[in-house]
Amino acid sequence: MDVSTFYLLVYAWIAIAILIFPIVIRIVAPYGRHTNKKWGAMVDNRVGWILMELPALLVFMGFYLWGAGPRPAVTWIFFSLWVFHYVNRTLVFPFRLRTKGKKMPLAIMFMAIGFNFVNGFINGYYFGTLATEVQYPLTYLMDIRFLSGILILFFGMFINWQSDNILIHLRKPGETGYVIPQKGFFRFVSCPNHFGEILEWSGFAILTWCLPALAFAIWTLVNLLPRALHHHKWYKDTFPNYPVDRKAIFPFIL
Ligand code: NDP
Repeated sequence: MDVSTFYLLVYAWIAIAILIFPIVIRIVAPYGRHTNKKWGAMVDNRVGWILMELPALLVFMGFYLWGAGPRPAVTWIFFSLWVFHYVNRTLVFPFRLRTKGKKMPLAIMFMAIGFNFVNGFINGYYFGTLATEVQYPLTYLMDIRFLSGILILFFGMFINWQSDNILIHLRKPGETGYVIPQKGFFRFVSCPNHFGEILEWSGFAILTWCLPALAFAIWTLVNLLPRALHHHKWYKDTFPNYPVDRKAIFPFIL
């Protein structure tokens, strides 16, 4: 694929994210607490998670490792950060979930497969084929974009992992109900797991300073901001004693 076609694809991908945002803010994504049989055939929740996240890991790795470019040393750090996140999300997180007997629509699984395929491809191809030594020399490790981005990424990863962990332990093995989370960043927002994930990929976009990573950060925001707003409304509708000063996703803001 020539470079201009690639960039056209990434710009189109960003445009789609921006165009569908007003739609996804209105449609409650039907998985987890919002799961809904009206969306057709269902798949086991854990199996769905593994299958839908797998392309983000394998497609990214494949396009990076078999890329035709010089793969500067610095891009191996980008590669490791991505793989570290997605090994957890794909191969560890689904087995930790206390999700016995729950299902998700196959349609959601296939949409997520498509989403993860494209994001895995554009990022893996970019770092594996297009990235150059001139763009990412070893001195880039002291660049303010790299340093600030990696701090934001790790801060986001900490919040995301801590919050996922708190949620998982709200249930005893075998339980499937919901309670109000009280610990960690849940004191400030209903969905710190989503807040952390958005910070993480925004940090990745800053530290790599490239269009495909920006596209992924935008898509993460477009996916998770509406989901957090829907969760927040669900909490307020479900629990009359829900903390009134708790925001949905961004502490003290929204
Ligand atoms: P949720 O917060 O909806 O659920 C996470 C887990 O915690 C589920 O097993 C859920 O059970 C359980 N849970 C949630 N709230 C409660 C509660 N109040 N009481 C008891 N159990 C609860 O997270 P998502 O499924 O939306 O996302 C999971 C992870 O994946 C997050 O870290 C998120 O950031 C990430 N993600 C990233 C995306 C991206 O675009 N990069 C897209 C989607 C997710 P149940 O399933 O039964 O509701």
